[in-house]
Amino acid sequence: MLVVQKYGGTSVGTLERIEAVAKRVAKTRKEGNDVVVVVSAMSGETNKLISYAEHFSKSPQQREMDMLLSSGERVTSALLAIALSELGYPAIGMTGRQAGIRTDKSHTKARIENIDRKCIEKKLAEGKIVVVAGFQGITELGEVSTLGRGGSDLSAVAIAGALEADLCEIYTDVDGVYTTDPRIEPKAQKLEKISYDEMLELASLGAKVLQTRSVEMAKKLNVNLVTRSSFNDNEGTLITKEENIMEQPVVSGVALDRNQARVTLRGVTDKPGIAAEIFRKLASENINVDMIIQNVGHDGTTNLGFTVPQNELEMTKDAMLNLNASQSVEYDSDIVKVSIVGVGMKSHSGVACKAFDTLSAEGINLEMISTSEIKISMVIAAKYGELAVRALHAAYELDK
Ligand code: ADP
Ligand code: ASP
Ligand code: MG
Repeated sequence: MLVVQKYGGTSVGTLERIEAVAKRVAKTRKEGNDVVVVVSAMSGETNKLISYAEHFSKSPQQREMDMLLSSGERVTSALLAIALSELGYPAIGMTGRQAGIRTDKSHTKARIENIDRKCIEKKLAEGKIVVVAGFQGITELGEVSTLGRGGSDLSAVAIAGALEADLCEIYTDVDGVYTTDPRIEPKAQKLEKISYDEMLELASLGAKVLQTRSVEMAKKLNVNLVTRSSFNDNEGTLITKEENIMEQPVVSGVALDRNQARVTLRGVTDKPGIAAEIFRKLASENINVDMIIQNVGHDGTTNLGFTVPQNELEMTKDAMLNLNASQSVEYDSDIVKVSIVGVGMKSHSGVACKAFDTLSAEGINLEMISTSEIKISMVIAAKYGELAVRALHAAYELDK
């Protein structure tokens, strides 16, 4: 078998843990498998590097951020290769570039365009364990790029897809995907399986156990994806096609996204083309707009609200300044988005009503709502985030 294993920041967070990872990888190799390992930076390292850059500048050049941040994963890939060789298992550390990972030019959130599988295959053919630095690639112009926070998951899935690996294991500090973040609700239950679509929603709505784009890629390339713990041998969670899951609960999970901010434009001229102009501007700045609400117009003007990731709020403010589309603009970072996700919602009614009832019983006001076929998201005051997660988790009996 060809197995791709990805180890996250906590799993390689100390030298002792890197040693433990080396032993786990060695065991997989000893069982007769070809192994490609993808590693994250040691936990806290990426944040530390960001804070270094912020010491000098509020908006450092994104190219330099990629030079800086990619170094964290490079350290762990070399250390793990050294540790493996010492255990008697020949290994080679590779940067994104050396592993043939080509991306587009959008620094700090680059997309993988293709992977030259020969780069890794050549080293595997030499009998080596290949240890790839996650989270990074190279642009057409030979510039280092990174794939967005949590991007090592994407590196692993993309490599597994390109090499047609039999299995892609994501090792982290929880032993699978739970009904909600077990740090918020200790009664959360581990899921044996979850569909790509549900996982995609959970990830994009704040469950950081897998990076959103990695799930997208796994679905597209049909990668056999498993998340499990690097600290024990418990069986993890399989992320798979919907038809492989027999029982579909109405709600599979609850997610909390703390990285949201709301923008409210008051007194927007109520005529065709205005919304298009506003969102065209935001799109051209590569800002990820999420929920959008427009009020019923009155006296020729209307109010327009939308959410953006908190770390894109400064860019959003700049974009709004130059636009002059409304009489006033307000910004609020003191909000969170809580969501419920489940493919079973497609065939059940009353799911939304129950969510609204549950939050109102806790005295929580809904500030924005959006729904799709398999999710309901609600924006609420930040201070109620965890309470809302626990209340919804209980209301849909996810603790059973
Ligand atoms: P890594 O560093 O290994 O990539 P992350 O910190 O990115 O790990 O992701 C693992 C964390 O995701 C867990 O510690 C957990 O707190 C959080 N998490 C959020 N939602 C969920 C969920 N539904 N199931 C499991 N973990 C979750
Ligand atoms: N080190 C990067 C981050 O912290 C990438 C990753 O861990 O997946 O976002
Ligand atoms: Mg992660």
